Amino acid sequence: MPVRLPFRPRRDAYPSDLWTKCPGCAEMLFNKQLDKTYRVCPHCSHHFRISAKARIEFLVDQGSFKERDSNLAPVDVLNFVDLKAYPDRLVAAQLATGLRDAAVWGFATIDGRRVSLCVMDFGFIGGSMGAVVGEKVARAGEAAVAERVPLIIVSSSGGARMQEGTYSLMQLVKTMSVVERVKAARVPYISVMTDPTTGGVFASFAVVGDVNIAEPNALIRFAGDRVSAGTIGEELPPGYQRAEFWYSHGFVDRIVARAKLHEEISTLLGFLIAPPLAGATEQASGQTSWPRSFLSALTGTRTADSNGESRGSQTAQPRGEAQNG
Ligand SMILES: [Zn+2]
Repeated sequence: MPVRLPFRPRRDAYPSDLWTKCPGCAEMLFNKQLDKTYRVCPHCSHHFRISAKARIEFLVDQGSFKERDSNLAPVDVLNFVDLKAYPDRLVAAQLATGLRDAAVWGFATIDGRRVSLCVMDFGFIGGSMGAVVGEKVARAGEAAVAERVPLIIVSSSGGARMQEGTYSLMQLVKTMSVVERVKAARVPYISVMTDPTTGGVFASFAVVGDVNIAEPNALIRFAGDRVSAGTIGEELPPGYQRAEFWYSHGFVDRIVARAKLHEEISTLLGFLIAPPLAGATEQASGQTSWPRSFLSALTGTRTADSNGESRGSQTAQPRGEAQNG
């Protein structure tokens, strides 16, 4: 029987709001200290997951982020109930994160260069992509094309949101069609894959950047081990779902530690510049015609509010609402 000193607290008895145990090296880390290192373990460089808000704070120039479409909120189109009703899950996630859904987008500057930025938050139902997340990614891309500024998407997601069924699967198509427009317009797109980038997000916009960056040891995959091995009928090599494996096979271009991310993206933005349009006609009209959300373009609902100022409230509801009605 082990000797236990009566006055020494057990290591797992630390209050969790003060201390975090590092899964990489099992050290107990003081949360305030961890925040100062962008939530990266100072002992083993384990990158903890961070909120969209925290990431935006260190990624862009201080105070430069201006959020767009913060009023977009998800809709329970399917009246979906699993262990909990979907609306209850949404309310719990909204209270926990302070967000309406699992993505935030807006404009910001990085060392003075304007970018269109979309950041996902794993804390909101696993960063899953439903109609609102897909719409925000799409609007970030459309705005990047309209303003001819680089698009940056930071992924952190378990994949499509099953509570929105087919609506969530359709986001793969929607986001990819916007990425294709970004590429056709020769607007740079930098994708940052953080832990985890999986499922439908992996299978759509996350892996098709002009430059694909990953954080160290990030889990990047489409499906779990068993499904992947079962599909191809053979054992997969160890660590094949980690950023380093993807990097060694040319799938990821750079692995960048969180503390260096701002600097790295800033350097890339110095190289990647959207060339000016020949006639500049699209650019001139861009200010009055964006964002044309994919649904809006399909249904032609954007007839009256062609000026950018009034679009906020009129396009506030995601596609679910329109299809529900
Ligand atoms: Zn550690």
